[in-house]
Amino acid sequence: MNQFNNSENMYRSKIVTVIGIPFDTYSSFMKGPALAPKKIRESFHSEATNKCTEGKIDLGEETRFIDKGDIEITDYLADIEQSITTFLETGTRIISLGGDHSITYPIVRAFNKKFDNLNILQLDAHPDLYHEFDGNPYSHACPFARIMEENLVDRLVQIGIRSVTPHLKQQVERFNVEMIDMKSWDQSIKIEFEGPLYLSLDLDVLDPAFTPGVSHHEPGGLTSREVISIIQNLNVTIVGADIVELNPNRDPSGITAAAAAKFLKEISGKMLEDI
Ligand code: MN
Ligand code: MN
Repeated sequence: MNQFNNSENMYRSKIVTVIGIPFDTYSSFMKGPALAPKKIRESFHSEATNKCTEGKIDLGEETRFIDKGDIEITDYLADIEQSITTFLETGTRIISLGGDHSITYPIVRAFNKKFDNLNILQLDAHPDLYHEFDGNPYSHACPFARIMEENLVDRLVQIGIRSVTPHLKQQVERFNVEMIDMKSWDQSIKIEFEGPLYLSLDLDVLDPAFTPGVSHHEPGGLTSREVISIIQNLNVTIVGADIVELNPNRDPSGITAAAAAKFLKEISGKMLEDI
C-alpha cells in the first residue's frame, strides 16, 4: 500500500482540479459529447455570468480551483485511467467534464485504487447497466455494469431513472443497485452516505425542458433546482465527480452548456467548502 492508497490522505486534499475528457466514441445513438468540454468552459467563462457559487465562493479568484485542460485519449481504458491516477496522486479532488458516460468506468477504476469504501451517486435517466450494447461492453449504456462486476465501489445509488428494460431490471437486482426511480422520487428523500463519494451527473437526468442538448431525450426528469439541491444537500466528502452527455450539436442556444457550467460551480463549491 503506498502513501496515497489511503482515504484519510485524500480527505486532506486541498485542490479541486477540472479536466476535460473529449470522448464520444462509445456513444450509441449520436456523437457530439466530445465537443462538450470546450462548450462547458465557454459557458463557465462567459461574461453573461460570474464565477460565484451559491455558497459565495468566487471560483474566478479561488487559487484552490484549477483547470488542467483536456486529456488526450488514444486508448480509452488506459489513457483515462492513467490520467486520473496521475492527478489523484497529487492529492486533488477531480471534476471531469465529459464526454459521454463511458468515461466513468476508467475514471472509477482509478478512484478505486485510491479509496476504500467508495460510493457512487449517479444522477441519470438511464441505469447504464447493460451487459453489452450493440456488441460493445464499453458503450455509454454499460459503464456501471463494468464498475459493479469489478466490485469497484461499495454502493451504487441512482436517482432519476426512468428508462428501465427487463434486462436492466435484472442487472439492478444482480448488482444490488439502490435505484430511486423518477416515479418514486420525492425531494424530501435524503440519501445518506458513509465514506467518500463519487458523483456522476448525466445531464439527461434533467427534464429535456432544462437540458435539451443531450443525445437521449427522456421526458419527465428533474428540474435544474432539484439537481442543485441534491448536490448542496450531500452530507459526505465528494472526492470526484463527472458531468457527462452534453451534446453541443443539440444545444444551439447553449442552455444545456449553461446548466453544466452551473453544476460545475455548485459541485466545486461543495468540494471547496469541505476542504
Ligand atoms: Mn448515463
Ligand atoms: Mn442517461
